[in-house]
Amino acid sequence: MKASVAMLHQKTNSASPPQAHVVVVGASVSGCAAAILFARQGIPVTVIEKRHPSDFHKPICTHYIQPCSLTAWRELDLYEPLLEAGAVKNTIGIWTKWGWIPKAELGEVHALNMRRVTLDPLLRSKMINTPGVTYLEGTRCSALQRDASGAVTGVTVESATSGSFELPCTLLVGADGRESTVAELAGVPTEETPNQRFSCFTFFRNIPNESRTTSRMWMLEPYIAYQFPNDDGTTLIALMPTKDRVADFKADRAKCFREIVKSLPDAPDIDHAEQIADYLINTKNSMLLRRKLPHGLALVGDAFMTTDPLHGFGISWGIISASELVHRAAPGLLAGLRPDREIAAYHRERYAEVKGHFKIMADMALAKPMPAMQQMLFSAATRDPQTSAIVQRFLAGTSGTGELLSLRTLMRAFTTTVRHSFRRPPQMVSESSGA
Ligand SMILES: Cc1cc2nc3c(=O)[nH]c(=O)nc-3n(C[C@H](O)[C@H](O)[C@H](O)COP(=O)(O)OP(=O)(O)OC[C@H]3O[C@@H](n4cnc5c(N)ncnc54)[C@H](O)[C@@H]3O)c2cc1C
Repeated sequence: MKASVAMLHQKTNSASPPQAHVVVVGASVSGCAAAILFARQGIPVTVIEKRHPSDFHKPICTHYIQPCSLTAWRELDLYEPLLEAGAVKNTIGIWTKWGWIPKAELGEVHALNMRRVTLDPLLRSKMINTPGVTYLEGTRCSALQRDASGAVTGVTVESATSGSFELPCTLLVGADGRESTVAELAGVPTEETPNQRFSCFTFFRNIPNESRTTSRMWMLEPYIAYQFPNDDGTTLIALMPTKDRVADFKADRAKCFREIVKSLPDAPDIDHAEQIADYLINTKNSMLLRRKLPHGLALVGDAFMTTDPLHGFGISWGIISASELVHRAAPGLLAGLRPDREIAAYHRERYAEVKGHFKIMADMALAKPMPAMQQMLFSAATRDPQTSAIVQRFLAGTSGTGELLSLRTLMRAFTTTVRHSFRRPPQMVSESSGA
């Protein structure tokens, strides 16, 4: 059965439709951000989302929101609403075998912790209520229309209740996550980097002596662990062990998880805390990159670049990529054109901006021993406040490899390391002074 857009459950506030029309596939973080920002520019947007009802959330996520995305949250007018809904302002202390890389002062630049169960409905409701957005929940994109040159000109939408129909568009935005159907239908090649770690996490309340403004990360080489205080008095604890432990964890999640958490230096006292959720395991975490796109198609968020969850960049880069796409493409779309050059520039520049991070993440995902340069930087960061600030800025995404790997930073780290090696044997910096 064919159905018109008007027959579907939707909310349209568009006054007079200009020529250009954007279709976004996926209403998670990056799709909602793209739809809000396109519509605010006066470009009508239809959002196709296979899930319903509209308050769904992504359960497999440890939801650390990096400082580099604060500007993008403010642009979406969501920074204050996130705080009002309980997002926890925090900075992170990082344990290494040389001691703690101290957390930054909690100031203007900080991370946010907010569970996806709170974040996703808030962001989606903002999107649904943005004038110019038509939201088609419970619909999926199943095919693409192309013109003679191969450019994407529309999508086929399937709805369980209303059948299928074609939706023409000037620009199709794939915001449909790591498995991106849109990219697959368009024949976009996927570059994949394996990940030797998997994730297991759960939530607690009332962890004794916990700082509610401090996140903590343990770089145990090769395992990684996190403690993130979240909204509503909850705390997420996550482990990222190597994949040789998947079978053990699947056989007895509680035993494996608790053993490792209790062995962490300055471990959170989970024996005296209340566990409020089951253990979730995720093994599907290779890194993906998609760059060769046909005209008429743009990718944002995980559909464009899926990073290792270890680094907590997916949400932040999702909304930043949406913002950058809209800024690039909007002027052409407002003129009724398909801005092919601008869209190509968006993909190229977005990747160039984060390439340094992406490559370091890809190396770290192999869970091999830390390279010598990284050892030098991390050990110096536990001893020298200036190196610590540089490493922290890199990990927060507020600076890139330009600063981290500059001759000046490396010389400073080298000098710190040499100076330190002439001192007495290393003392582990305690958590109270470190994180
Ligand atoms: C274990 C784990 C931990 C993580 N921890 C963090 C963290 O701490 N911090 C962080 O920033 N990121 C983290 N991430 C990454 C983060 O979850 C993702 O990067 C983020 O959700 C990507 O958002 P997105 O909008 O691009 O895609 P997704 O959230 O994957 O959303 C895609 C949307 O598209 C819809 N869709 C898919 N196909 C179709 C179709 N054919 N038609 C219609 N709709 C469709 C889906 O239903 C979904 O709503 C983690 C990921 C994992 C796996």
